[in-house]
Formats: sequence, C-alpha cells, structure tokens
Amino acid sequence: MSATRRDFIRFIVAGSVAAGCPLDRALIGLPPENPIGVDGEHNEICHEVRDGHRFDRPLVSAHHDVVIVGGGVSGLTAAYLVKDRDFLILEKETHWGGNAYLEEYQGMAFATGSAFTDRSETPVMNLAKELGLEMLPIDNPDPSIIRGEFVPDTWGTGLDHLPYPAEVRASFKKFRDTVLKIPVQPTLPLPEDWPLDSRSRYRELDNEPFSKYFHGYAPEVMAWWDGFGPSNWGARTEETSALLGITAVQGMAPGTPDGRITWPGGLGAITQRLTQVLKPRYGDRMIAGATIVAVEQQKNEARVTYMCLSELKTVAAKVVIMATPKFITWRLVDGLPPEQREAMKRIRYIPYPVVNLIFDQPVFNKGYDTWCPGNSFTDFIVADWTIRNNPGYEHKKDILTCYTPLEAKDRGQLLTEEGARDIAGRVLKDFQKLVPGSNVDPLEVHIYRRGHPLYMSTPGNFTQVLPLVRRPMERIFFANTDSEGPESTTSQGIVAAERAVREAGPLIGEKG
Ligand SMILES: Cc1cc2nc3c(=O)[nH]c(=O)nc-3n(C[C@H](O)[C@H](O)[C@H](O)COP(=O)(O)OP(=O)(O)OC[C@H]3O[C@@H](n4cnc5c(N)ncnc54)[C@H](O)[C@@H]3O)c2cc1C
Repeated sequence: MSATRRDFIRFIVAGSVAAGCPLDRALIGLPPENPIGVDGEHNEICHEVRDGHRFDRPLVSAHHDVVIVGGGVSGLTAAYLVKDRDFLILEKETHWGGNAYLEEYQGMAFATGSAFTDRSETPVMNLAKELGLEMLPIDNPDPSIIRGEFVPDTWGTGLDHLPYPAEVRASFKKFRDTVLKIPVQPTLPLPEDWPLDSRSRYRELDNEPFSKYFHGYAPEVMAWWDGFGPSNWGARTEETSALLGITAVQGMAPGTPDGRITWPGGLGAITQRLTQVLKPRYGDRMIAGATIVAVEQQKNEARVTYMCLSELKTVAAKVVIMATPKFITWRLVDGLPPEQREAMKRIRYIPYPVVNLIFDQPVFNKGYDTWCPGNSFTDFIVADWTIRNNPGYEHKKDILTCYTPLEAKDRGQLLTEEGARDIAGRVLKDFQKLVPGSNVDPLEVHIYRRGHPLYMSTPGNFTQVLPLVRRPMERIFFANTDSEGPESTTSQGIVAAERAVREAGPLIGEKG
C-alpha cells in the first residue's frame, strides 16, 4: 500500500494509545485526512493468564467484606447492591461497563455493544427505574433490507412484502405459523422454584438444535435466522438451542406489541448511570485498569491477586463475587471442583466486533434495528432512535452501529490492526451498497473489537451447563450473564448479580 493511501487509525487500548493502524482508504472510499478509530480491549495480562503463566502472589495488603471481580453490568450491579458494605470492585479496562458500554461523539451517545431490553425484563426495568432512567420505547418491529428493498415489520406484515418469489414468501409464513404452534410455556426466564419435572419440555427443546425446525422450508428462511442468531445469541441455527430459537420466533408473532426499550447509547446508559451513582461516593473502592490474575480460597477468607500499574497486589475478603466471563473465570479461580471447571470450559464464545459509522448528514432513519441478510454485518441500529423526534432535539450526526458477529475460526482477524481494518472496510462497503441513498462517505468509522464477548446459546447450554457453572464455592460466588441463560443479556447479568449477592449474604452478615 502506498503512503498516500495510508493514514493512522486511532487505536485505543484501555488507557494507552498503543498503536497507529494504517487504513486502506481507497478500499472504503474515504478521503485521507479523516480520522478512523479502532478501539479494543485491554488483554495483555489476560493472555498471560490464558497461557498458564503463574504470577507471584504478594502478601495480603488489604481486607474487605466483598471483592467483586469484573466491572460489566453484572459486577457494577453487585457493587450497587453491597454498597453499604466494605466492598472493592476491580476491572481490567480503564472504563466500566464491559459489553454494555457506550461511547460519545460530539455529545451524541452510541452503543459499542448491548443495544436494548424489553419491558418484560423485570430485573433491568427495576434497576433502571431505581437509577432514575426514563424508559424510552423503540416501538418499531424489526425491518429487513433484502435485495436492496426495505421491508418493515419483517415477521408481521412484512412477510407479504419480502422481495422473493411467491413460494419463498409462502415458506416464510408457513415456518412462522408452524413454530407459533409449538407449546413453550411459561415465558422465560424460568422461575427459580420451578420443579425440575415441569422443566422437561424446556430440557427437551433446549437440547435440540433450532435447525431441526427448518426442514422443508426455503433456504432463505434459515438464512434470515442465521443472521439473527449470531447477532443475538452467538450461534447460527444448527448451533442454537431450539428452545431459544422457537421462543424468539414466538416473540415476533403478528400483533405482538414491540415491548423493547432503550436509551441513546443502548444499555451502556445503565452502566454509565451505575458508575455515575457509585463513583462520587465510593470511588476509592473502584479500581479500573486492574487485571485479576488469581483467586484462591483460604479457610476464613478468599484472596484476589491483581495487576495494576505493573504492580501485583493481593487483597483478602470474606467473599469474592466473580463477575468475569467463565472462559477467564476458570483460569483465575484455584481449586474449582472438576465438574464445575469442565462446565465453564464447555461454554463457547464468539468474537464480535461492532462497527460505528458516523455521518454528518442524514443517511438512514427508517427503522431502529434493521436486518440485512447476506452482508458482512447482520443488522444495524440507529443511535438516537428513541429521542430523535423529541421537540427541540438537535440531530447533529447520523450514527449507526453495525453488528458484525464472527465465527470462532475468524477470531485471529481481530488480533491485528490490519484484520480489524479489513472488517471495518467490508462493513462500510456493504453498507454503501445496501439501499439507494446509503452510498455516502462517513466522517469516521470506529471498530470496537472484542474477542469473546458473547457466549453461544448452544443446545443444552441453558439446562445442562449453566446450572453447574453458577454453583457457589464456599466463599466464591459466580455472577456474570453467562451464569444464567438462556442467552446473554444485560438483564441476566443483573439477575446473576442479585443471586450472587443473595448467596453471599450470610457470610457478610446479611440475611440471605
Ligand atoms: C455486540 C453485542 C451486542 C449485545 N446486544 C445486547 C442487547 O441488545 N441487549 C442485551 O440485553 N444484551 C446484549 N448483549 C449482551 C450484553 O451486552 C451482555 O450480556 C452483558 O453486557 C454482560 O454483562 P456482564 O457484566 O455479565 O459481563 P461483561 O460485560 O463481559 O463484563 C465482564 C467484565 O469483566 C472484565 N474482566 C474480564 N477479565 C478480567 C480480569 N482478569 N480482571 C478484571 N476484570 C476482568 C471485563 O473487562 C468486563 O468489563 C450484547 C452483547 C454484545 C457483545
């Protein structure tokens, strides 16, 4: 690539600007002077943990009631719930929020991960209310863009307008109507006190692949779900729990009101607010840029060793709440029971970058979350959808978040700046060909890359694996959304935190 076709990409790696990244602007049709951002995760120490490096464990330098490991929505919620105790929360990134994290461009918030929730998700609704966040309805059943045509309300009235031959449209309808009749009751999540016997239907469906239900239908039907699944729960139909797939189809039944809500910046608004509430009062108990390298249980305490500013420290606590994802948790916690460790190792995670396109002119405002089968990204959302029609709202920029789930075999692309740049370039190229009017050059392209953010809701994960991974281990308790199921959601991250705090209660003098 010649120097004239290169520019430096801003590459932010939690607290340190690690590198510039050359971008082939000719590929994506950008003038060379515009800045392009590549954000990422701070993973150097985690990679050493992954590779089995054993760190020294210094003498204990502080004692707490509760140490929380991981500052995503689950860890932050746990901190919020124990805020009256002597707690310490540690997070490897220099910012809080994990996969529910928003960024801002000229004062406009946009999502780098988690986008929306549903009114029926009581845990997240209750927390948002307590934090004073007003619910903003999306009120726009998911549209699709297929063969250059925009189809509103894909699985409702849209099925009559899909730009396919009549027999393919009929196949979509038959699939929907058949799946709607499959009995799956009650609605998820399952109440905790449900007797195991009555869960058998759940078990049966959870252990089947969703793909089983696509036999005899046009391939376009499965292709649509092969985009929806990876974006929402990390798996294509053949690797998706049928329980989850069927529930998702049923949630789109014609006439079902759109119960989804969000905020500008998506569910990062919740972690932002949690941080704003906690930091002013408890800032000294919140350490960002601290990567945990070991957690061990002793007779009367649990110890956590972490690296911060190149220094190793060990702290002790009556209880530790692990709010990290399980692929790292099993490497951190000493002495996990073999069955639990194996269960944690069985959970698979996809690499999942998101690409933000920032335009200085209106480009797209037809739908909130638009599905685009056959492209390098699965769907994209509009950052200010829920506030753009408010009186007096000043629409400064069009910011779109393009969801670009990858398969595990492609994770390596994220490891190099060039690989990330290629993904961002492909997304922009595809977007510009999407519909008439989308062939516009953005001001900036950001790619936020994450290596293992979303666990796959594979058959059996919900009913066989997750009940094992969340078992308490004397003084160590397991939060994070990947303890609950059936899919990775912000709400389940909150549920996991509430459960872990409840379980830990008796050891810190709370009523359980
Ligand atoms: C692209 C994308 C889109 C999504 N969209 C939605 C959506 O629309 N709606 C929805 O409800 N959910 C969505 N989700 C899922 C949702 O974001 C997650 O379920 C939720 O954010 C998980 O929160 P958590 O706290 O359980 O885990 P995480 O967010 O993974 O938090 C774990 C934290 O632990 C930290 N950590 C890891 N290792 C260490 C270590 N060794 N030491 C210290 N800290 C460590 C991490 O940096 C991270 O901050 C989406 C996820 C992704 C990736």
